[in-house]
Amino acid sequence: MNAKIYLDNNATTKCDERVLETLLPYLKDEYENPSSIYTLGRKIKEKLSEARKKVAKVINAKEEEIIFTSCASESNSMAIMNAVKNHPKQRHIITTKVEHASILEAMHDLEQQGYYVTYLSVNEKGQLSLEELEQAITKDTFLIVVMMANNELGNLYPIKEIGALAEKYHIYFHTDAVQALGKIKIDVRDLKITTLSLSGHKIHAPKGIGVLYVKENTPVQPLIYGHQEHNFRGGTENVAFIIALGTAVELIYQDEYQTNIKLKYLRDKMEKEIKERIEEVYIYGDLENRLPNTSSIAIKGIKGEELMLLLESFGIYVSTGSACNSEIAEPSHVLVACKANMEDYSPIRISLGKYNTEAEIEEFVKRLESIVRLKRRK
Ligand code: PLP
Repeated sequence: MNAKIYLDNNATTKCDERVLETLLPYLKDEYENPSSIYTLGRKIKEKLSEARKKVAKVINAKEEEIIFTSCASESNSMAIMNAVKNHPKQRHIITTKVEHASILEAMHDLEQQGYYVTYLSVNEKGQLSLEELEQAITKDTFLIVVMMANNELGNLYPIKEIGALAEKYHIYFHTDAVQALGKIKIDVRDLKITTLSLSGHKIHAPKGIGVLYVKENTPVQPLIYGHQEHNFRGGTENVAFIIALGTAVELIYQDEYQTNIKLKYLRDKMEKEIKERIEEVYIYGDLENRLPNTSSIAIKGIKGEELMLLLESFGIYVSTGSACNSEIAEPSHVLVACKANMEDYSPIRISLGKYNTEAEIEEFVKRLESIVRLKRRK
């Protein structure tokens, strides 16, 4: 059995040992409820406040602007529903064709309720047009939703320019920054963002903890009623995971620069070697403006799904652009939006993380090359 080589860090990441260490005491001995008014409860509440400050700092927000949720999908849903409830007279939303399912599904639901949604198209590199966005704005537009970084291609979107447009037309602007956190600088004030979502498990914290940033003075309507999280999100707080998230964002300050240099070095080296050693390779996305860790690579004539399974037999884990349900493998909506030639060039997504090594990348390229040679010989 080969040692596991995990190259799917945009799907989820390994929990950092240092994060685990700070989390465990709150599952073992320090399990009091932060709403309890005795000293032990208040001590936990203080810990939650420390974690909130750390999260706020990493995006240049204020502590009061941070709401902890169960995941970024919840944060996205809450942000959209909040915008809807705050603008009862308007019916038009602008988003893109390449958002995460938690955004697109919410939009489909709103369309059923009579809202109008403009889905901005992208070009073959997955880039958006700011002119198209501005032209789509009407008096009826109350919400713009554009992700900061795309999970499949790694593309970075012009959030600063979109924030400026949203401000100019007085429109609520939500961005999903799940893949961007730790990889690029996020400053909610500079970017003029109204609401923003984050997720713990993409930055080496556990699954099941998310964040919604809401700009001060924006009314907040809860999805889950109760008195926690400034009355905005009910439910006893997930203390251990909130503290874990605080540690994970703190590690971003310490490691971010070095980690991103390493990720980009490994990703670029991997792409260069694949192109040198294998013929007819195509890399999707905006190659000049993308996350340092992501690569969507297609090899002519070999389906991404097949490559993924063959790599798995060597203990190498990548993903495809496909969202599979149990019976049909549907082409990814992101690649469909890019009008990708999936017949000839169906990609695998490689997303590197801080634990990947140069030796792992060499092993991956070697295995990929031998798989392609074998397939092409047939
Ligand atoms: N948004 C993006 C861009 C993602 O990649 C993901 C996770 O795959 C999510 C949202 C959802 O995050 P969570 O698993 O915390 O709900």
